[in-house]
Amino acid sequence: MITGKNYIGNLLSSLGKVTFKTFNPETNTENEYIFTEASEIEINKAVELATEAFKEYSKISGLKKSEFLNQIATEIEVLGDELLKVYCEESGLTKQRAESERGRTVFQLRSFAQLVKEGSWVEATIETAIPNRKPTPKPDLRKMLIPLGPVVVFGASNFPFAYSTAGGDTASALAAGCPVIVKSHPMHAGTGEMVASAIIKAAEKTAVPNGVFSNLNSSGIDVGVNLVKHPQVKAVGFTGSMQGGRALFDLAAKRKEPIPVFAEMGSVNPVVLLPNAVKNNFKKWAKAYAKSITLGSGQFCTNPGLLFGIKGVDLTNFIQKLASEIVKIQPTCMLHPTIIGAYEKNKSTMQNQQGLQTVVDLKNETPTNYGRQIITTVEGETFLKNSTLHQEVFGPFSMVVQCEDKEQLEQIITNLEGQLTGTLISDGDEIKAYETIVNALQNRVGRLIFNGVSTGVEVCGAMVHGGPYPASTDSRFTAVGVHSIKRWVRPISFQNWPDNQLPDELKNENPLKINRNINGEQTIKPI
Ligand code: NAP
Repeated sequence: MITGKNYIGNLLSSLGKVTFKTFNPETNTENEYIFTEASEIEINKAVELATEAFKEYSKISGLKKSEFLNQIATEIEVLGDELLKVYCEESGLTKQRAESERGRTVFQLRSFAQLVKEGSWVEATIETAIPNRKPTPKPDLRKMLIPLGPVVVFGASNFPFAYSTAGGDTASALAAGCPVIVKSHPMHAGTGEMVASAIIKAAEKTAVPNGVFSNLNSSGIDVGVNLVKHPQVKAVGFTGSMQGGRALFDLAAKRKEPIPVFAEMGSVNPVVLLPNAVKNNFKKWAKAYAKSITLGSGQFCTNPGLLFGIKGVDLTNFIQKLASEIVKIQPTCMLHPTIIGAYEKNKSTMQNQQGLQTVVDLKNETPTNYGRQIITTVEGETFLKNSTLHQEVFGPFSMVVQCEDKEQLEQIITNLEGQLTGTLISDGDEIKAYETIVNALQNRVGRLIFNGVSTGVEVCGAMVHGGPYPASTDSRFTAVGVHSIKRWVRPISFQNWPDNQLPDELKNENPLKINRNINGEQTIKPI
């Protein structure tokens, strides 16, 4: 049942005065539930509880944390079709998408459960003492990763499950040993509350301390701003717009104690189409890209917004084929009227840029809030000179840049902003002749894709979902896969510390049987 209240730790609360509703973009009507924005008192209470809970939660065993995470996954599944219904009502996304995103979310939770149960992720590194070393004795030093403290997670609009309440940021922070306060996304506050109820049930069933999780409603930026400014908050996770991510990053940097903000923001995901691939396989790639550009109405951070090729008849054939394929695809509902409003505005800003040609702009009659796809093209020289053309248009929009030659293509790639992904389309070994372009692309992205599409982000340990700024605020980390846990920890060294006072991970006997580095050797042996 949706109450419209906030979870302040395990308790439902609605002390605030500001209320709001979510919106069903399919029916173009407001949903029935009324949500109350968290008040300042509730924000402070949630952070106080998290700070208190951290004392115990940061020390509990990996086994207990894994029970908690697995239980969250189970409780989400128990919510069944009712949860999927609310998800669809608040996002305009299909039931099929809801099911697959829920599958991904519970898989993420269970992956982190497995990681912390096994325990070696703390990177225990031990250098034993050499008391008779000359000229000075070497002390006994033991290092491992420990949690930072309470983390604030901003739910993303485009992934109501997988990057929201119990999504990757929350799961990884809880796995690290950090309490989490979610700033629920206002577009899917009902989905958020239901998932939050699953987390609270799991917390109670597995007896983790009250305050390990809170879920706060908001209809504007104030709640998020107050959370980021709160002195007891120690890190922030964010997925959304460049403006939002950057504002929060700057706010966190200005605090008396600056804290890290791991913001995953816009990306146009460049695709480089090499000449032989275009010549020999333009039909295949045009079909694949028409599908990828329109997937989820273009509302993916990995949507391919820019395609680069070398000017000529083959590239023209590709562009024409892409246009003819993309018009065959039925438009779908976008997340919210504000998202479609931004899409229409950004699309027309692009179309007003000098030198940009519209190849196909679907004008068909579509239901309200459906995103109509568009393909545009521009000369390489024009693209180089106009940075507006480099910006993300969130929706089913893509631009084909026609470069003069290989040198111009390399210059363009070198000058791109940081991106989540970069894709190279090559006919077999053709790639070998484009090493400098591959190197330029590698410098700009977090993930390189060969002969594929950028949409579709596998959740696994080898995934990097991040990239140089502005794709993310810290390119050293991934937001997807178990290694995303590294965002919420810091290393600590214990010097000459009594064995019985060390964390289990660093004790001589290795009671947790984890993999450790001892004097340069990777081993599970005791000392
Ligand atoms: P958003 O506007 O960045 O908002 C995301 C969250 O951050 C919301 O909870 C929002 O709070 C909060 N927020 C935004 N600006 C803030 C600020 N200055 N201070 C404090 N909090 C702030 O993103 P969105 O609502 O998800 O979608 C809007 C646009 O973002 C889209 O049209 C798209 O362009 C972009 N977007 C990109 C991606 C991507 O992966 N590339 C993903 C999602 C969205 P309130 O909503 O309460 O104001």
